[in-house]
Amino acid sequence: MVLEAFNESLVLGEVEIPALKPGQVLVKLGAAGVCGSDVHMWNGEDPRTPLPIILGHEGVGTIEDIKGGKYTVDGCELKSGDSIIWNRGITCGKCYYCTVLKEPSLCTARRVYGINIPGSEKPYVNGCYADYIVLRANTDIFTISGSIDPAVLVSASCSGATAAHAFDMLTDNLIGWTVVVQGAGPLGVYAVAFASSLGASQVIVIEGSVPRLEICREFGATRLLNLHEISFDKRRSMVMDCTNNLKNL
Ligand SMILES: [Zn+2]
Ligand SMILES: [Zn+2]
Repeated sequence: MVLEAFNESLVLGEVEIPALKPGQVLVKLGAAGVCGSDVHMWNGEDPRTPLPIILGHEGVGTIEDIKGGKYTVDGCELKSGDSIIWNRGITCGKCYYCTVLKEPSLCTARRVYGINIPGSEKPYVNGCYADYIVLRANTDIFTISGSIDPAVLVSASCSGATAAHAFDMLTDNLIGWTVVVQGAGPLGVYAVAFASSLGASQVIVIEGSVPRLEICREFGATRLLNLHEISFDKRRSMVMDCTNNLKNL
């Protein structure tokens, strides 16, 4: 499905996928996520968006074909039939951000499937709103073990990765910490899951949707504050009470 013009319907197209180059992986998509960024891009609000483009930067799929050897980030050789998820960003591995700062998401040459690679660029299937995508040789790939529904797992490649990165910048574990998550969209739910799995003693969520608050409870939130029922001042004092009124943190 191709975005040819902003604010217009996506157009069903057909392309001939070129022969794979060494290290490229042909993936049959099992699920593709719709991220808030996709809506901004469709609106023309994201300056990175080239036209035409196949949107969709969150994908999960099965390997259909590989040219030559290609390994997962853990060093295991990939083979046809493997279920995989991948890093949506491809980075240069050479610039200051990639090598010195070790912050590849800031790479000045970063390409992102479904975000800044046009549909006119070989191998054409560069986004996840398609039957197939071709992953380039320098893509970080992970195999999926067990039977996880691709539709459930797919958001891990955007909001999941973003929340994971936020916690990477904190500390190895959160034992004894209190974490307050404001907003329970996908990023917030992943933040609850990571905070809880890293051992936070208290995970407090502030949100206005009751079903989303309940999802957060399933993912390990210990206290749910409904912002439609509890005033700002009251929420603030409840959080301060939970943290023994510690300030300047
Ligand atoms: Zn996204
Ligand atoms: Zn770089």
